[in-house]
Amino acid sequence: MNDSSEKKIIIAIDGYSSCGKSTVAKELARQLNYIFIDSGAMYRAVTLFFLREGLVGNGKINLPAILEKLQLIRISFIFNAATSHNEVFLNGENVEMEIRQLAVAQNVSQIAAIAEVRQLLVAQQQEMGRSKGIVMDGRDIGTVVFPSAELKIFMTADPRIRAKRRYDEMIAKKESVDFDEILTNITERDRYDETRAESPLRRAADAIVLDNSYMTREEQFAWILDKVREKRNEN
Ligand code: C5P
Repeated sequence: MNDSSEKKIIIAIDGYSSCGKSTVAKELARQLNYIFIDSGAMYRAVTLFFLREGLVGNGKINLPAILEKLQLIRISFIFNAATSHNEVFLNGENVEMEIRQLAVAQNVSQIAAIAEVRQLLVAQQQEMGRSKGIVMDGRDIGTVVFPSAELKIFMTADPRIRAKRRYDEMIAKKESVDFDEILTNITERDRYDETRAESPLRRAADAIVLDNSYMTREEQFAWILDKVREKRNEN
């Protein structure tokens, strides 16, 4: 599948929170020898910056101060050969682990709803996809970032199943977590992401839906790989 003579395409993977978008996207990029970008990590890194500045939290945001400080933020990715993963850096600091904390998850949707934050990150994401050969996952990749992406997938799954997967992951990392708190976070983020005015989460008209509630990772991956083959033959 990673024949370099084959035409490179853009693969946009959007969908609800904790559907396993990044896991599938990462594996796909590895097999195709494509770049993988987790756009959610960028919104999370921006959120971490403003949490540290005390400008977001407890359901409140200080918008004027956020807009003033936005220009101080530099997000970048550096490939870690040990994990075969692009790790996210905030102003030169590796924040890959810290951005996965619940405090970030609880505030990220508010930050991601700010038009100026989206403009900044979308421009950067479009630049990353200029040479194609990229798999990017997020909420608005097929609708706003790469509306002409050759392959668009929209992932969804039962919220309780998603919460259970996230819960098991956190328990495996020995984090102390509460199932209901995770479920609430997932459903609230989805609601917030779907109803915001700026680039709301929605399925692009030409995206193919993948409901992975009852699919193993291997089954999902085989399903997507099939779609990649079809698209590459078309293009
Ligand atoms: O994908 P992940 O769950 O890490 O994304 C965190 C949050 O970032 C989402 O809940 C959403 O609010 C925001 N996001 C977004 N647009 C994207 C990616 C993520 O608004 N393209």
